[in-house]
Amino acid sequence: MRKKIVAGNWKMNKTITEAMELAVHLTEYQNEFPKDTEVILAPPALYLGSLELMEHLNVQLAGQNCSEKDSGAYTGEISAGMLKAMNVQYCLVGHSERRQYFGETDEIIKNKVDACLRNEITPIFCCGEVLAEREASTHFVCVLKQLQGALWHLSSEQVKSVVIAYEPVWAIGTGVTATTTQAQEMHAFIRLSLGNHFGDDVAESISILYGGSVSPLNSAELFAQNDVDGGLVGGASLKAKDFAAIIQST
Ligand code: PEP
Repeated sequence: MRKKIVAGNWKMNKTITEAMELAVHLTEYQNEFPKDTEVILAPPALYLGSLELMEHLNVQLAGQNCSEKDSGAYTGEISAGMLKAMNVQYCLVGHSERRQYFGETDEIIKNKVDACLRNEITPIFCCGEVLAEREASTHFVCVLKQLQGALWHLSSEQVKSVVIAYEPVWAIGTGVTATTTQAQEMHAFIRLSLGNHFGDDVAESISILYGGSVSPLNSAELFAQNDVDGGLVGGASLKAKDFAAIIQST
């Protein structure tokens, strides 16, 4: 059985006070969360320590990014080992905003996947095409290239410790969601590609999340698709009620 996961990516939003309020608000809903769904929060890294100390918050924590390096003179960077030492279990890797605004290439993303695995952090590897690629019908080629670039060097055992998030860039923060058909066909393609490279058993065990304008209005039908194992949620994770409703729809 694949793990169902809902992860909230807070990006660069909220002061510490607002972040703690949001987390407290979320605890008011958590008794109603499905027991077999893993709930993950990826707050700004500065707040990980405070959230980790919140006794009643039943979530796993994720970094939004980490360094390729383990330590050294890399001003401003945070290593996967540092995240691990703060009881963080997951880290987003290769989010489209990192690719687009911070020049992250497939090679850098591959190195970050490796850094996570070296430090026993589960990478949530993000992939997805831009609108021009979708319009040119090259979206499958694009996503396959991203998978090959960052994951294909791993062993079957290693890749089992990776979570994949398919996030079409045209759907992130735009209010435009992939249709259930578009989401399912890409998730099935990702799983087929994983199966061809690593074996079907491995592919069957990997959780593939959908991300891109997930909301309480569309989450249930997206998550009902065979190969959609949950979601990576940006904007809607900033409102406890909406995020809770999305979790409850898994
Ligand atoms: C994201 O940033 O990963 C994301 C999916 O954002 P949103 O839900 O706001 O589209």
